[in-house]
Amino acid sequence: MSLAMPRQGEPLISMRNLRKVYRKGTQEFLAISDVTMDIHAGDMVSLVGPSGCGKSTLLKILSGLHGHDGGDLQIGGASGAAFEPGRDVGMVFQQPLLLKWRNILENVLLPADILGLPRKAAVERAHGLLDMVGLNGFANKFPYELSGGMQQRASIARALIHDPKLVLMDEPFGALDALTREKMNLEMLRIWAQSRKTFVVVTHSIQEAVFLGSHCAVMTAGPARMADFFPIDLPGPRKLHLKTTPAFGAYVTRIYDRLGVE
Ligand code: ADP
Repeated sequence: MSLAMPRQGEPLISMRNLRKVYRKGTQEFLAISDVTMDIHAGDMVSLVGPSGCGKSTLLKILSGLHGHDGGDLQIGGASGAAFEPGRDVGMVFQQPLLLKWRNILENVLLPADILGLPRKAAVERAHGLLDMVGLNGFANKFPYELSGGMQQRASIARALIHDPKLVLMDEPFGALDALTREKMNLEMLRIWAQSRKTFVVVTHSIQEAVFLGSHCAVMTAGPARMADFFPIDLPGPRKLHLKTTPAFGAYVTRIYDRLGVE
């Protein structure tokens, strides 16, 4: 079974020749030159490219934090319901960024509190999400009582609490040790399958990009252009030994080729 879902209908996100310029006074800096891709509901798109090429900038545009300066961006489908980043996007960062004075349940509830969602339903949903990310029984613990990997799982639950359409992850496992990172990759595939959300994940690890992605977007050195965009058609359920197979290696090689790394 392929993890790549059939791509029918209009995409959730459509980017056409997207361009982004940072301005400071009279100075201009072209961060993204020309990015075109379609992301469909339920996709897990891994985004790779050299450091400084504009990956975080692209996530910030998708999250509504930054505008773009050229090209076209449609989120939610041309005919779809209005997409409001505050309500429809969940974010996961490299650091869990949990509030140390709130327990894990209250941390997960934070976006729901900010959006003013009904408390009782949000608490129920938070418990369900803590279950899903394997933190059942940790609701009343404080962040310092959890390992780095557990804290990051709490931040994934927090990103899902308001039932967003899109979850953006910026190097989510970059701060974890190698083994915890591999375990989190497996957890992530399970969370993706269970939540059926659309994820865009920035990673510096080519292996992680192939292991996690239903699709992979490769960007050139900045200012970013598309170097490649392709589905990752590997058999599931994906387990760590998949990384030793020729098919997995072929995708890794393809990305290295596009990045010009030998
Ligand atoms: P990546 O996530 O791929 O490492 P970024 O999107 O963080 O890259 O940055 C792309 C480029 O834009 C870099 O050269 C960075 O220095 C520059 N940049 C990022 N944010 C700003 C900003 N707020 N103002 C000016 N330049 C920025």
